[in-house]
Amino acid sequence: MDYTSVIAKQIAAIPRSGIRDFFELVQGRDDVISLGVGEPDFATPWHIREAAIYSLEKGQTSYTSNLGLLSLRKAIAKYVSGFFHVDYQAEKEILVTVGVSEAIDLALRALINPGDEVIYHEPCYVSYSPSIVMAYGKPVSVVTKKEDGFSLKPEALAAAITPRTRVLMLNFPTNPTGACAAKEDLEGIAKLCIEHDLIVMSDEIYSELRYDEEEHVSIASLPGMRERTILLHGFSKAFAMTGFRLGYACAPQPIIEAMMKIHQYAMLCAPIMSQNAALEALENGGPAMEKMRASYHQRRDFMVKRLNEIGMDCHSPGGAFYVFPDISKFGLSSKEFAMQLLEQQNVAAVPGTAFGASGEGFLRCCYATAFDDLKIAMDRMEKFVANL
Ligand code: PLP
Repeated sequence: MDYTSVIAKQIAAIPRSGIRDFFELVQGRDDVISLGVGEPDFATPWHIREAAIYSLEKGQTSYTSNLGLLSLRKAIAKYVSGFFHVDYQAEKEILVTVGVSEAIDLALRALINPGDEVIYHEPCYVSYSPSIVMAYGKPVSVVTKKEDGFSLKPEALAAAITPRTRVLMLNFPTNPTGACAAKEDLEGIAKLCIEHDLIVMSDEIYSELRYDEEEHVSIASLPGMRERTILLHGFSKAFAMTGFRLGYACAPQPIIEAMMKIHQYAMLCAPIMSQNAALEALENGGPAMEKMRASYHQRRDFMVKRLNEIGMDCHSPGGAFYVFPDISKFGLSSKEFAMQLLEQQNVAAVPGTAFGASGEGFLRCCYATAFDDLKIAMDRMEKFVANL
């Protein structure tokens, strides 16, 4: 059978994730230190795992409300109010989803009419452009620059807005660069969104993982923005809960209602065991999260120092758990650099181009890896660079 005519054109046109392709090469190789996959090296804190076990023990194994357990939504409302300084009603303005991944998909499908333009800043998380395409939108990237710390500047955004622009996707701290947005830049961006009547999807999944003085600011908390922002957050990163698959969206009720319609037919609800675990994370997970954050902070400082020492020009990212060194001076493409590093020194890092064409000349290294392994990886990278 000729399957080329079986698969929808829309889907056939989407490339596979560059991260997956690269990591298939790593499978089965011994002694590889991976700085590749973007997930915490910590197991989920024990008391949170226990909450999932108790859920099973107590026979809490059913569906929940499509929106998620009300007790969890109340805890989310309290947490979001304290951390992001924005208030949402637990009953109708919060939707619990299967990771931020599902929330991104729902938000785009709820908002986009075919051909609408969606702006996002690049380099960016691998799913953004394909998710826009799958929602029949037109992805429009705005390239962020190393000299701006990879933050989105209002002037660059202004230049990309057209009469067809409907949505702006933001992600600070950013995967893969660790960039954080300054409050003044967010204010400039907010002004443009109000002027051009744009809806903002703000993916703040790394917002607890900040290492410098400034406090995290959500664009949803700026004047006039709550009504036009979908705040996306989840448990995967800060609470080390990737496998629980739990996230949430906070937005005005008509938007949550539209997202919920898709969610109820496509997913029904997020798993109840994960929801019970998430409730425990919000109620008692603060100290464990702070310990993990402090450990990432130490590792960030180590990585930035070592990379610069060995001649790999690396800005100090304010958040997330990635560094994004500039490798352009070595005369290899990002992919060649990553492949040769893997072949010669058994260190796996992701070519910057996996995060968009503007990632050429960069490498993403995830430092959510044991400190001892990071030290070995940096020694190996030093040898690799010295031989180039
Ligand atoms: N958004 C960003 C920016 C990410 O980096 C990731 C995962 O790496 C996700 C969303 C997906 O998160 P979740 O595990 O909640 O689906």
